[in-house]
Amino acid sequence: MLTLPTLGAQTAAAASTTATHCPYCSLQCGMNVVVSDDQAHVEARDFPTNKGGLCQKGWTSTDLLRHPERLTSPLMRAGKDQPLRPATWDQALERILKGIAEAQQKYGRHSVGVFGGGGLANEKAYILGKFARVALKTSEIDYNGRFCMASSAVANVKALGLDRGLPFPLSDIPGAKTILLVGSNVAETMPPVMQYFDQQRKNGGCLIVADPRRTPTAAAAAIHLQLTPGTDSALANGLLYLAIHNHYLDKEFIAARTSGFERARKVAEAYWPDRVERITGVPEKLLRMAARELGTAATALVLTARGPEQQSQGVENALAFINLTLALGKMGKPSCGYGTITGQGNGQGGREHGLKSDQLPGYRKIDNPEHRQHIADIWNIGVDELPGPGKSAYEMLSQCGTPGGLRAMLVFGSNPVNSAPRAGLVEERLRALDLLVVADMFLSETAAIADVVLPSAQWAEEEGTMTNVEGRILLRRRALQPPAGVRTDLEIVSALAKGLKSSGHFPSSAAEVFEELRRASAGGLSDYSGVSYEKISSENGVFWPCQGGDPTGTPRLFADSFPTADGRARFHPVEFRQFSEQPDSEYPLFLTTGRVMAQYQSGTQTRRVKKLNDAVPEAFVEIHPAMAASMKIGEGEGVALTTRRGTLTAKAVLTQTIRMDTVFVPFHFAGESRANLLTNPKLDPFSRMPDFKVCAVRVEKAPIC
Ligand code: SF4
Repeated sequence: MLTLPTLGAQTAAAASTTATHCPYCSLQCGMNVVVSDDQAHVEARDFPTNKGGLCQKGWTSTDLLRHPERLTSPLMRAGKDQPLRPATWDQALERILKGIAEAQQKYGRHSVGVFGGGGLANEKAYILGKFARVALKTSEIDYNGRFCMASSAVANVKALGLDRGLPFPLSDIPGAKTILLVGSNVAETMPPVMQYFDQQRKNGGCLIVADPRRTPTAAAAAIHLQLTPGTDSALANGLLYLAIHNHYLDKEFIAARTSGFERARKVAEAYWPDRVERITGVPEKLLRMAARELGTAATALVLTARGPEQQSQGVENALAFINLTLALGKMGKPSCGYGTITGQGNGQGGREHGLKSDQLPGYRKIDNPEHRQHIADIWNIGVDELPGPGKSAYEMLSQCGTPGGLRAMLVFGSNPVNSAPRAGLVEERLRALDLLVVADMFLSETAAIADVVLPSAQWAEEEGTMTNVEGRILLRRRALQPPAGVRTDLEIVSALAKGLKSSGHFPSSAAEVFEELRRASAGGLSDYSGVSYEKISSENGVFWPCQGGDPTGTPRLFADSFPTADGRARFHPVEFRQFSEQPDSEYPLFLTTGRVMAQYQSGTQTRRVKKLNDAVPEAFVEIHPAMAASMKIGEGEGVALTTRRGTLTAKAVLTQTIRMDTVFVPFHFAGESRANLLTNPKLDPFSRMPDFKVCAVRVEKAPIC
């Protein structure tokens, strides 16, 4: 199983250079993959998003192509208590088809589900959505992007009629006089993007960062609003209050381009500065400074990210910041707008093309009769055969093996044992499935508990499009063949659909899938009908929507109107609600989670890259020195963090950069140091986003074995 994979056709050939993109985050930095003498390495490529820059993860991304832990054969276990053993593809596929048939005969067609990942290319997202609904005939499909940008996605649609991470190109950033960046540490999570923020400051612009931690991004800002975790909407309302009372409103824009301002204004009137200081912990003086910088700037951007969004009130938080942006009239003009810094490589495209339980390709709604008819026609099925909305990610995962829940699940490109909230329960529920199938390149923590594991190809070994943080559609070209024994996800889905005797068309060629995706998306909000692989290559990407002969698509949205029924953006009054878990005598501090520069998501890939793992090999707990002293905890000593869901043990890192009342843990690590053993699965009522970013925690000194 663990023989060193070879690089395939290029092994003995001359060096080849392929222009492609990084496998990790939503910046999708351009890079060249050079294959020579059985070795692949990365070279810089001057691409508009990263301008030649790459972070450590990008530079080391080819280390995984021939990694000794690479899966090169399917694995199966004979029984739940038996170990995984190598199997042939025929044996593995037969076992999966048998398990699907048994579950559906006994428990109905919705007892089988699909769980995808935000790193999967558009073609895979599209085909998995079609596979679930046409071949499996199940409503149960969702993806880990639900845990990422779902809250801002809902807020964007509610307020602006459309959800695209940034409705403007990154090149707008340097021209913004003021930028408010909320809950994002881009200096560590996507370092090349800091070029844009650095240029903005060089141009005399003001950067304001709101974050409970003084991250490297916050340290680079002119104003750092170090708010209490979970108080984001109070901060936004407080800034709106000051905009109202200091005459910073753009009354003309509000009158001509929006609706509902009066209701939002009335709510904001209750957020006077000293009250907001009491709620958020942000000094009134800093609030006033931030409001002045935003309110008097000719151009301004308001950007949110996982901080305010990964909460059970994430939609309200995002709406509150959209209210502020609209009130200042900073929309649809160069270097103006509200945007969300998307996270995973293709979290955006995943939800546009049907990986989400309530969406169909082209950003269509699965409960809209016209949308359903359009997609049913493309898929050549009767509209009544198209299932309705299924459960959201956490609801699907946490109900596995229970009455009414799934009995069989197919996971592609995701590791929910690490990345789902309340991970201990999720692992228990996944183990209770009759059949868990995982397609991955490595034996992730989820693959390790699966009944069948399928070895799948990596990004450089297949073709496909990705939609980055700006809504720019990019093309990844195949740089080399996958190792012998490995198949692409499209080949796997195609074989399964054939085995299920589906009448649907499930090609294994990405280009062929993309042709169908284009037709399916035509007329939808995220219209890709005018996009082609050739156009993407010649134009350095194409911004959606893009129809017909449009050369570059739509880099900047909302210039003249919003895609709402009346063409206006809508204000939504937002009252700050106390977050679901208030600290108390038993759990007296706040816990917040996040990322570090050297690791990515659940760590399946980056924990296997030596340079990255040497940089940050294990979980740690950031704690303020004064708080640590009060508990007699020294630097590097073991601490146990306990919430109402579980306990994690890790070493303490004492730092002045975190609030006294808050501790921070990165979420990339496995086993007993999984941050998500602790996180709260309370869901946002609109986006079904869990409370990853704030819960109550107890900190105790504890030995580390
Ligand atoms: Fe890859 Fe993101 Fe790093 Fe760019 S910033 S190299 S896309 S991980």
